[in-house]
Amino acid sequence: MNTNVDPAELEKFSELAHRWWDPQSEFRPLHEINPLRLDHIDRIAALQGKKVLDVGCGGGILAEAMAAKGAQVTGIDLADKPLKVAQLHLLESGQQVDYRRIAVEELAQQAPASFDVVTCMEMLEHVPDPAAVVDACAALLKPGGHAFFATLNRNPKSYLFAIIGAEYILNMLPRGTHDYGRFIKPSELSSTCRRAGLETIGLIGMTYNPFTKVYALAADTDVNYILSTSKPAQS
Ligand code: SAH
Repeated sequence: MNTNVDPAELEKFSELAHRWWDPQSEFRPLHEINPLRLDHIDRIAALQGKKVLDVGCGGGILAEAMAAKGAQVTGIDLADKPLKVAQLHLLESGQQVDYRRIAVEELAQQAPASFDVVTCMEMLEHVPDPAAVVDACAALLKPGGHAFFATLNRNPKSYLFAIIGAEYILNMLPRGTHDYGRFIKPSELSSTCRRAGLETIGLIGMTYNPFTKVYALAADTDVNYILSTSKPAQS
């Protein structure tokens, strides 16, 4: 039994899962940022033909998009309903993704060093021990591979934007979606990655302008950000 999971978190995502692919639903932010993060990952890791693992894939918004870029994608999550929704959506999209309900730590024991790219987006802030997830992601990567982590920064501005703004003022996300105590500073995530044997090769922000309702990749990493890392090639 995997203990690095918060059942209340899985329940939150399961309850909403039937709306995962509705771009006007609670998952709208994921739909809107998807092309941005996809391009970013593709620019750095060249997805075509790569073996990719998406950790905490949920309903499969990023997993499917990476498959559409020609990657051979495995998506894992521990919540049943989002995985079912992800599986069903393949019928609609005609994409191929291998969806599995397995903990990343367990997969790391079964299949170490078997992926060219690992993505773990908007998931670390829902997990009790994010460092254990980062360790497992590092173990799953082949030498020379790339891992991408996206999460929320921890500072007064991120509290204001990600919780007060998104959950209480703009009602973009259900109240209680995010727990400020689980937000992670880029410096902390980068150290965690270094301890796991991953080198940080880039840090970029994802910003939201509530007036224009436009998301963008930006130098501003105060709220949402993506940390790009690589596993050194064997010498
Ligand atoms: N990565 C996807 C979904 C983000 S929502 C995207 O960015 O589009 C967060 C997801 O993390 C949910 O699907 C939730 O079920 C999953 N999750 C939360 N805790 C988890 C854990 N311990 N192990 C695996 N997945 C987890």
